[in-house]
Amino acid sequence: MIADYLPLLSALVAFLFGLAAGKAWERYKLHEGRWIDRRKARQSPHYIQGLNFLVANQLDHAIEELSQAARVDEDAVEIHMILGNLYREKGQVGRAIQIHQQILQRPRISKLEHTYALLCLGLDFTRGGFVDRAHEAFGEVLRLDPSNEHALLQLQKLYEDQNQWAEAYRVRRELAREDEPERRTRRHLQIQAFLENELGMQALSRHDLPAARKHFESAIELDAEVAPAYLNLGDVKRDAGDMAGAVEIWEHLIASMPTRAHLVADRLGDAYMAAGRADAFEHLFRRIATDHPQDWRARLALSRHMLRAGRPEDALQMALAALTINPHALLVHQAAWDILLDLNLDKASVERYVTHSRDAVFYRDPHICLRCRYRSKELLWRCPHCHEWNSFVEDRLAPARPSEDSDA
Ligand SMILES: [Zn+2]
Repeated sequence: MIADYLPLLSALVAFLFGLAAGKAWERYKLHEGRWIDRRKARQSPHYIQGLNFLVANQLDHAIEELSQAARVDEDAVEIHMILGNLYREKGQVGRAIQIHQQILQRPRISKLEHTYALLCLGLDFTRGGFVDRAHEAFGEVLRLDPSNEHALLQLQKLYEDQNQWAEAYRVRRELAREDEPERRTRRHLQIQAFLENELGMQALSRHDLPAARKHFESAIELDAEVAPAYLNLGDVKRDAGDMAGAVEIWEHLIASMPTRAHLVADRLGDAYMAAGRADAFEHLFRRIATDHPQDWRARLALSRHMLRAGRPEDALQMALAALTINPHALLVHQAAWDILLDLNLDKASVERYVTHSRDAVFYRDPHICLRCRYRSKELLWRCPHCHEWNSFVEDRLAPARPSEDSDA
């Protein structure tokens, strides 16, 4: 829910900052030969009330109050701009587009207002799925303000959605250039690294192995923690017959990100086995499990490895250790069931599993507060976190596949 509002909020915040800081915002404006006070609408109680509702995420009330404030002064561009954004967030894209286009047609708006109205329009078009028109709007913003971060970021996302990774990469570099060098550099490199990885996958799909390799290597060089690039680079090397090179890359992933080790567990398990180093896997993953007491995935990988090696009792022990750390992962329970079946449902082993499951700290019947997202293991009538009444609903994930008889 919070994430849905991020584009709106970031645009709003930027806009309001722009107003506070910019001399572009004229408090008084010459209108048909007389100075009018543009503060009028903002001093209306409806404006303040509307902003309060906005902060509380109550969009309908915010729209109602801000519409009243806008009626006090039709010249209050920023209020109309916000109203348009609120309609967009509610899914009324047509209405949002109309409002933002009307702002652009006003004869006397400042360059700053013009730029932000275009930015809002671009967000409307994006939300409505009008990709070409969104591109146009953001392009227009950048012509007015070449370093506009919001427009660059939106353009990058548009390119990503169309799988145009090279273009997305170009825009991201533009963004990195505009940013202050010491700020968010790591984040820029990280995103560039993921885009390099996508370029590598694109090269793979056209069977250009040398280009793919180069992209994966550049990705790792940009950011040592871009996990998928290690997987892909290792796979390319393995498929080219360079098993030692592949193992080196996957071990490198574990050295950079020990808690991501499970990602390469199957690959390394097979490789060690083929090289006659069966012990290497257990040695490596036991060390990871010891160094990271909360790493249930490393324990699960060990458990699987032990079951494959014909040691179901060891495997069960390890699976129960994983279960204690994260009892909510269905993966762990499924691994335990596989082991119990392998043990022909040996009664003592089944009892060990049942006891461990019962003693684990579970959200047995998870509920969530609609207002503040507080989680509870049962239905509550008053939220202990935000103190709202009757705000809890069952916290249930939709089935990954709709079941056959769901509408029976
Ligand atoms: Zn709450």
